[in-house]
Amino acid sequence: MSSQTNNFKGKYFILKDTLLIDFPDIEKIIFINNHIDTINEINQEYGEKIKQIHFAGETFDSLKIEKRENQLIKIFPRSKKEIIKFAKPLKEKNFFISPTFPVQILEDISIISSMGLAVDLIHIIDTLDFKLTLNLLDYYLHNASLNVPIEPFHTILVSKLHRSTQTLWNMNLRNPDQFYHCDETGLSESPETLNNAQYQYLIDHQAKTFKRSTQNSPLQSYFNSLPKARPKCMACPHFHICIAWALYNKDSCQKWKKCLTTLQEAFRELKALEKFDQEHTIIKPPSH
Ligand code: SF4
Repeated sequence: MSSQTNNFKGKYFILKDTLLIDFPDIEKIIFINNHIDTINEINQEYGEKIKQIHFAGETFDSLKIEKRENQLIKIFPRSKKEIIKFAKPLKEKNFFISPTFPVQILEDISIISSMGLAVDLIHIIDTLDFKLTLNLLDYYLHNASLNVPIEPFHTILVSKLHRSTQTLWNMNLRNPDQFYHCDETGLSESPETLNNAQYQYLIDHQAKTFKRSTQNSPLQSYFNSLPKARPKCMACPHFHICIAWALYNKDSCQKWKKCLTTLQEAFRELKALEKFDQEHTIIKPPSH
């Protein structure tokens, strides 16, 4: 990842309130808010800018979110019962479910996905039991009836298939080149540094823009330190996706390594199948 620039074009701003919403530098917003009225008001006025909405209120209330086309809505239910109760309208709304209740067995997730609801585990995957994580990955890869994504596995596999440069940092909304976490004072590269008031940019409310702060970028320092501090990462086949995320403030990356290896094997199998299909199909499907 390169060093920060002050070009804000195309970057994501992660906002929890409406304070900066009409700043001209802000083009793409991930709006994290639990008040339905606020969400619907800003979505009506600034919907073009709002790319994602994260809502951690009551599941029933989430159904009142007026989702616009191409928006991703992620809800954070506290109970499995609530999801089951409202499964039909949640499916119709096409919301992503990010569980915040304890996920202890495969069925905690498979029951959600079997009802046609997309699941996102990125925020809890590091806390899940190793074996359970692998079971979930196996379920995602090999359950023929599954027709919704289970994240982050799905994005990793699809990004391999499309040769895109999706990384675990991006999936966790942490990348000093891409995501700015905001409060009323400034922009920071992660929720942690935002909470510690380590700002990369300070807000000029009058001019409705941002001024570079003198603060260092802890993430940039981490990336710069990798060749010396994490030589094994530099030689790791998953470095292009992981970039040492799995060892950031953690002692072991064994679980992530196993998941990434399994996804790489699945990718290879899919590619081989695609090649086999192309070579052995006698009657080609009509082209439109
Ligand atoms: S999987 Fe582990 S070794 Fe590989 S890049 Fe990530 S943290 Fe480094």
